[in-house]
Amino acid sequence: MRRSAVVQEIMKDYEKKRRMAQRRREEKVQAIYEMVPELEALESQMTRQGLAISRALLSDPQNQQRLIHQLEQEMNRLQERRSALMNSHHLTEADFQPHWSCAHCQDRGILKSGKHCSCFKQQLINQAYQMSNLAGILAKENFKTFRIDLFSEKEIPEEGLSPRDNMLQVLQECEGFVFNFDEPNEKNLLFYGPTGLGKTFMANCIAKALLDREKVVIYQTAIKLIHLLENHQFGREGTPQDSQVLTRLFDCDLLIIDDLGTELTNTFTNGQLFQIINTRHLEGKKTLISTNLPPGELMVRYDDRICSRLFAYYSFVKFFGKDIRWEGRGAV
Ligand SMILES: [Zn+2]
Repeated sequence: MRRSAVVQEIMKDYEKKRRMAQRRREEKVQAIYEMVPELEALESQMTRQGLAISRALLSDPQNQQRLIHQLEQEMNRLQERRSALMNSHHLTEADFQPHWSCAHCQDRGILKSGKHCSCFKQQLINQAYQMSNLAGILAKENFKTFRIDLFSEKEIPEEGLSPRDNMLQVLQECEGFVFNFDEPNEKNLLFYGPTGLGKTFMANCIAKALLDREKVVIYQTAIKLIHLLENHQFGREGTPQDSQVLTRLFDCDLLIIDDLGTELTNTFTNGQLFQIINTRHLEGKKTLISTNLPPGELMVRYDDRICSRLFAYYSFVKFFGKDIRWEGRGAV
């Protein structure tokens, strides 16, 4: 989903909010009038009085001043009566105003100066969070909650590195990826290694950091992704949201494909996967792939077109060590 489409959705939401606030205001005012009918009568009198003053301004200059003075005095009297009535019923001017979610822009998203209100930026982020499929998890899994101390300092001889030192490098690479996200030459990422070493956690860290920078991030498992593409290709009935989801796969700022290799692999899935990886690459959109398969197995599993793209345009990031059981240890 392109940013402009996201913005359109947000503007529709603002419109809805404004209408809702205005309707609530009318209901509230109506309830007040039912409780204090004199107030309604006074207000229509004041409106008429206001009009009379405007007309008086166009009248014969000789009588004008006297007339206006008289009308204004009457207006003041009405206003005083209204104030007294409101006081006696514990009403304030605020009771007659709509209750906006954002008082700065009155739920327009745009300020009088023409600039976006600060609430608009937050809306943009919220909308992107919702679309990412990650909204719930990101509060727990992000760079701030990452704990390097969970990784062993003991060197693994065949890697020549301890899991902790490796994770420090991974962390650096991921932070670099976020930092340089808008650089066209920055490579995509491919995380590989067995389950339980923090690949998904790291992907979530990146997702959150980018969402907070107003990027559109979509997370999808390979299985679900292929399922969506199959449904679309074979004209099967999907949910009404599916076509929107499909578009987002191609044009979100970052697509995270989790668990590549768990889906059924055949010519169809190879073709579809190639299309996504290649289209995104050609359009300069970043992709993050996470897989349990080591590079050698990827080459067996996927056709040359896919592998050549992966090896050329992805930075391979290896996760190794012992399963540190991310689940159930709280924030790691
Ligand atoms: Zn606002």
